[in-house]
Amino acid sequence: MKFGTKAIHAGVEPDPSTGAIMTPIYQTSTYVQRSPGDNKGYEYSRTHNPTRTQLQNALAALENGKHGLCFSSGMAAIDAIIKMLKPGDEVISTNDLYGGSYRIFTRVFQNFGIKFHFTNMQDTANVKKLINENTKMIWVETPTNPLLNIIDIKAYADLAKKHKLLLVADNTFATPYLQTPLDLGADIVMHSLTKYMGGHSDVVMGAVIVNDDELRKQLAFIQNACGATPGPQDCFLVLRGLKTLHLRMERHCQNGRKVAEYLKEHPKVGKVYWPGFESHPGYEIAQKQMLDFGGMVSFELKGDNVDDAVRVLENLKLFALAESLGGVESLCGHPATMTHASIPREDRMNAGLSDTLIRLSVGVEDAEDLIDDLAQAISV
Ligand SMILES: *Cc1c(COP(=O)(O)O)cnc(C)c1O
Repeated sequence: MKFGTKAIHAGVEPDPSTGAIMTPIYQTSTYVQRSPGDNKGYEYSRTHNPTRTQLQNALAALENGKHGLCFSSGMAAIDAIIKMLKPGDEVISTNDLYGGSYRIFTRVFQNFGIKFHFTNMQDTANVKKLINENTKMIWVETPTNPLLNIIDIKAYADLAKKHKLLLVADNTFATPYLQTPLDLGADIVMHSLTKYMGGHSDVVMGAVIVNDDELRKQLAFIQNACGATPGPQDCFLVLRGLKTLHLRMERHCQNGRKVAEYLKEHPKVGKVYWPGFESHPGYEIAQKQMLDFGGMVSFELKGDNVDDAVRVLENLKLFALAESLGGVESLCGHPATMTHASIPREDRMNAGLSDTLIRLSVGVEDAEDLIDDLAQAISV
């Protein structure tokens, strides 16, 4: 099946008890057993719930994986992945990682004796230098947030195989519409379903997708043992969102391109970060591993006056000033004070996150209206 057909059909069966074409919301915590231990595959909803099962199957199908596992947020999915490690283990990741991932790594798991290294992953040599006998995992996020750097998934898959490490790919920004990391050799795909996958800014949820049965077993154990599982209503909302993922992503990409090209020509705008520009350092890898370049665009204003950025953000009308991304509506944000505020300023500067950097999640509205909004906000 092609992607759009899969988005609508794959992994999801009409409800076996009624034939309902849309997966019902199984709002139940427990299931009646015929005789002790004799059940219909469901015992307790932390462990299994039919609405969640269908969503997990749909997610696995879209990522070309065998197993999907849902969590109550993207952070809970990350939490479960890192809980497969032990004190003394080391993880290597990128230095412009999602702020929440950086925070849980350094301020939660570091206290449990797991060590994290952050480096510029555009150059594999930086990562090779950090690999030692304690290294267990390489964690990539691509495109990165908010600078939209591109990391070569295949190159890290090869490196991880060579050193027997797990390669995790946070695929939140790209979604399986744009790239499928398992096909490129990653072991684990992680998602914040809150973003493009849910797509309507109405749910917080996360997921992990794997091919390996043993990895699934470990992660399913943690999912049940630690209990950060989503409710069936939320699973229903993500199932509904997935059915239009391809349509939304197509428009996000078209609009992202138009907005990026507009900003690039604007006299008051400095650098524009969008991987579809031939001048972008990750352009060739992006072309190789992605179907298109996505709907995220970041830009700096000329000069380094933080007040200029604040003014633009206050003046934007269609682009709502809010955390998050990937919904049908356009959002804008200021990484320095919002998503990335938990990263110390010096570390932020070193990673290239200036104080005038503005991040746009370009929605699926009409591009002309979005560009008009940017024009009025920047010119004020
Ligand atoms: C939002 C996000 C997360 C965290 O997911 P939540 O659903 O907010 O817990 C992780 N990684 C990336 C890239 C994100 O954008």
